[in-house]
Amino acid sequence: MRTCVLSDVGELSVVEREQPSLDPDEVLVRISRVGICGSDLHYYQHGENSGNVVDFPHVLGHESSGTVVEVGSDVSTISVSDRVAIEPGIPCGDCSYCNGDSTYHLCEQMEYLSSPPVDGALTEYVAWPADLVYTLPEGVSLREGALAEPLSVAIHACDRGDVSDGDTVLVTGGGPIGQLVSEVALDRGAEVILTDVVPEKLELAEQRGVQHTIDVSSADPVAAIEEYVDGPGVDIVLESSGANSAIELTTETVKRGGSIVFVGIPIDADLPTDVVGLITDEYDLHGSFRFSNTYPEAIEGIRAGRYDVDSIVSFEQSLAETQAAFDRAIEPESVKGVVRISDESE
Ligand SMILES: [Zn+2]
Ligand SMILES: [Zn+2]
Repeated sequence: MRTCVLSDVGELSVVEREQPSLDPDEVLVRISRVGICGSDLHYYQHGENSGNVVDFPHVLGHESSGTVVEVGSDVSTISVSDRVAIEPGIPCGDCSYCNGDSTYHLCEQMEYLSSPPVDGALTEYVAWPADLVYTLPEGVSLREGALAEPLSVAIHACDRGDVSDGDTVLVTGGGPIGQLVSEVALDRGAEVILTDVVPEKLELAEQRGVQHTIDVSSADPVAAIEEYVDGPGVDIVLESSGANSAIELTTETVKRGGSIVFVGIPIDADLPTDVVGLITDEYDLHGSFRFSNTYPEAIEGIRAGRYDVDSIVSFEQSLAETQAAFDRAIEPESVKGVVRISDESE
């Protein structure tokens, strides 16, 4: 099977690899679409991401969907020719996190597609546990199925911040996660303000229904937010950029007693925490990492038209053009790049 491997920093090429064999509890998926994530770009450009170092050659890609071509002998829930989205993390199933209430994503033994040493989905076939594979209903395309992964990140972030009807929410960053976090917050009835420095990303957010956008390269965000918010600050900040300036903005804009959720992975991780401000203003800090039990809601929300994931896609390219697709995805105006592995139009 054709597989795209990262053979060195900045070097992606398509090679032949052996098709995976199938365990009794697995299904074999012919991969259709793979979304390019910020973490993939980080591995591509630096050979590591948040301390995870690549052992070359490595296969990237964890936002994936496809068509089932074979099912293991123990599988009864999924059938051949089902169109499916793949939840990319296999938890151990035995630890306290796996046995907790929706905490399996914190499992320390998690095997996650594309996180070294586990190879990713930029390949023609992936064998995956059937209970982590979700059938796509009619009306949900394979491309949308692949984007159930970043949408899941957004749903989990809004859960962490308890975003609810009537909340005022600041989303810092208009990349794929910021756009999808906004989508979920809007669906919950929140009023959303989004910041970025790239005009195309601000425009996209407005087209997608975000009420207020601020270009922080030219406007003072604190003053602009004061104008939009009726009260002492926003209820919740969802930091989706990882940029230092945006991280600083979180405590400057959240109201006393509000919540800050960190979703974007920062480049400089050691920013000072304003502990005194945290005490006296009683804001709650939340990290938000991946997700658990979100795929059914993500897929149903896409089907019902509550979540538009398609309009964040900036371009789609074939497996042979993966390197070009990655270079394009790095451009500041790009929001989400998608690699088309097999050419099933839906
Ligand atoms: Zn991702
Ligand atoms: Zn576990």
